[in-house]
Amino acid sequence: MTGKLGASLIDVRGRPLRDLRISVTDRCNFRCRYCMPREHFGSAYRYLDRDDLLALGEIERLARLFVSLGVRKIRLTGGEPLLRRGIEEVVQALASIPDVDLAMTTNGVLLPAKADRLAAAGLRRATVSLDSLDDAVFAEVTDTAVPVARVLAGIEAATRAGLTPIKINMVVKNTVNESSVLPMAEHFRGSGHILRFIEYMDVGATNHWQLGEVLPSATVVRMIDARYPLVPIAPSHPGEVATRYRYRDGAGEIGVIGSVTQSFCGTCSRARLSADGKLHTCLFASAGTDLRGLLRAGASDDELLAVIRGLWTAREDRYSELRGRPRTAGNRVEMSYIGG
Ligand code: SAM
Ligand code: SF4
Ligand code: SF4
Repeated sequence: MTGKLGASLIDVRGRPLRDLRISVTDRCNFRCRYCMPREHFGSAYRYLDRDDLLALGEIERLARLFVSLGVRKIRLTGGEPLLRRGIEEVVQALASIPDVDLAMTTNGVLLPAKADRLAAAGLRRATVSLDSLDDAVFAEVTDTAVPVARVLAGIEAATRAGLTPIKINMVVKNTVNESSVLPMAEHFRGSGHILRFIEYMDVGATNHWQLGEVLPSATVVRMIDARYPLVPIAPSHPGEVATRYRYRDGAGEIGVIGSVTQSFCGTCSRARLSADGKLHTCLFASAGTDLRGLLRAGASDDELLAVIRGLWTAREDRYSELRGRPRTAGNRVEMSYIGG
């Protein structure tokens, strides 16, 4: 059957289903302007109700079905996943699934309180988002009063808990935090953490994205290479989104994710499950398939598997390759909902 280890479900473009991102909440304690701008996500914004969220057992059941179809990596995300009540139980349930690499992406603020319990529950790796070491720039990006030191404390807590190697995600907007690129590289060189520079993307419909604000990954590489010479590293597996480099002096590695200037749709193996159980086959989707509705209506595992198989085998998504063409305009769902 399709679910045997090593077997793959293949889409129309020959891409296997390998990765699943599960959003566990659409809420967040930050209001990053590129993700949840306060003008839209203010006090009047209607978040999902508790009953709308997939319950623990529903998440585990769906995750097991996806794994039976070939998924080997699961990433918990959101919104801010550490705001989800009982996140440790979610981790524990997913960590008990064999053959799965389980990770989480977080803004790090709650890691000092939670890293040890997450590690004990079976989390192996964390990615922490941090866009600047400068409090003023960080406040401009995140639109919160949280100081950078809180995120750095989160990274330290995750390191002590063994959630390593930690990846640090930095989204770069040339109008906002270009000046933070070198200080970030300097800070994380030699730390054992892997800093990754992500091009600012046109996700959702509220961040007023403009191409002119994207700092191309090639520029980031040139900036760092001029100061700390870099050597390219070959991809470790097909579908790797980051282009990797190591410091020639042995101080570790960095990655760049050129989602806008170097689309990687051709090898994209990621599906996304929103916090209310809708399955999306592309980050830029405008609609998802309601797996929660099927679950709650009593669908059997075979029925659910048939729906997921049908969706993946019909998948044609390649938004980043087509970016800018008229057919790509649409009412895209927000990243905090679909899961970043
Ligand atoms: N709240 C968690 C965090 O920030 O790490 C997890 C969810 S967040 C949506 C996941 C990742 O998406 C973060 O690294 C964030 O920086 C990135 N992200 C959000 N909006 C983005 C955008 N417009 N362009 C590029 N990356 C973005
Ligand atoms: Fe929250 Fe993460 Fe989005 Fe920032 S990027 S608003 S921390 S979900
Ligand atoms: Fe994958 Fe869609 Fe991003 Fe292309 S645009 S890499 S298909 S999520």
